[in-house]
Amino acid sequence: MKKTPFVTKEQVEEIVKTYPTPFHIYDEKGIRENARKVKEAFSWNKGFREYFAVKATPNPFLIQILKEYGFGVDCSSQTELIMADKMGFGCDQMKDGIMFSSNATPAEEFIYAKKLGAIINLDDFTMVDFLEKTAGIPEKICCRYNPGGTFKISTTIMDNPGDAKYGMTKEQMIEAFKILKAKGVKEFGIHAFLASNTVTNEYYPTLAKELFALAVELKEKTGANITFINLSGGIGIPYTPDKEPNDITVIGAAVKKVFEEVLVPAGLGDVALYTELGRFMMGPYGALITQAIHEKHIYKEYIGCDACAANLMRPAMYGAYHHITVLGKEDQPCDHTYDITGSLCENNDKFAIDRKLPKIDMGDYLFIHDAGAHGFAMGYNYNGKLRSAELLLHTDGSVQMIRRAETVKDYLATFDFCDIFKDIE
Ligand SMILES: *Cc1c(COP(=O)(O)O)cnc(C)c1O
Repeated sequence: MKKTPFVTKEQVEEIVKTYPTPFHIYDEKGIRENARKVKEAFSWNKGFREYFAVKATPNPFLIQILKEYGFGVDCSSQTELIMADKMGFGCDQMKDGIMFSSNATPAEEFIYAKKLGAIINLDDFTMVDFLEKTAGIPEKICCRYNPGGTFKISTTIMDNPGDAKYGMTKEQMIEAFKILKAKGVKEFGIHAFLASNTVTNEYYPTLAKELFALAVELKEKTGANITFINLSGGIGIPYTPDKEPNDITVIGAAVKKVFEEVLVPAGLGDVALYTELGRFMMGPYGALITQAIHEKHIYKEYIGCDACAANLMRPAMYGAYHHITVLGKEDQPCDHTYDITGSLCENNDKFAIDRKLPKIDMGDYLFIHDAGAHGFAMGYNYNGKLRSAELLLHTDGSVQMIRRAETVKDYLATFDFCDIFKDIE
């Protein structure tokens, strides 16, 4: 699919008068259109709810937009739980507004999650006992499943659940349900995340088939009252232009078909479906904007930017591809080959390697696509780099700062007990 930036060079030139590069910018219009489509695709399911995976884009202004569609949040830590509570997702304001899908969970996080009325998603069988001894057993609970082996769609291996640290075996699920039922749980859910960033409409239907069959088996073997199934995240986005985006409408319809084939005949037609999408909800609707500030000609051609891997780690961390558009040169031929680098003292600090692009001039703005999820969120402070601002491009074209850029004072804030840093502004 052709990759088109959601801002123009002229818009960026206007924005930088107030907010210098680098910054992350998000497209409200794109977020809303997609959220509406997700909601509609599963509207056939009465209890459907998307729980946005907060870790993907933990910005309250963006999460607030999703909240307007009735979505909840999926949290994985105490900090995310606190943010969710402040935003009105706790049980005093929204019923079942929070999923807590954590692993290797500290006791205090279970205690806090239970206090907020979050639906606790147990990652392991040993957590049954741990939860009972710490927070106590709630009336509604979820258990995370790991079938082991490889996860295939027809003959293609999508991922390796057998190597993943998450979830319980089927035998453990059965045992956990029996014990939890005996301890007073009234409503059960099943969760699994078996493949990440899938760019195929087949992932959810294939996963659903497996989870729905498991639900039927668990109901038969344990008599548990299963009221929801959480398909979690994993619906991906086309980072590269050669891929086509997933069609959530097609996905929703295919899941409905499996639902009617497997769950309805088993008397489980009232089961609510949950999703915990992160990347699919935000990925394409965020970009990192950076300015080309240096060029270097040695054994290769380099363009040095004012952003670095501390602003967007995915290329450095997993060699991930992020498409780059040189703003204002959308129609020029890609007849130059560049490594696009940041300024970290790390040779993997490259947003692109051997990338074909139009000729880049100093001062050009680069639009780094698909940074809306797992982008800013993975930011860090290596080399004393400060996190950038986050901006929101509203539907009416106005721009709002939704997170200010970090300052040196923020960076040194954890030394506030030292006199020498007292006067830093
Ligand atoms: C990361 C995560 C998600 C979101 O994954 P995406 O790939 O962003 O859709 C959902 N659920 C859990 C438990 C996760 O850890």
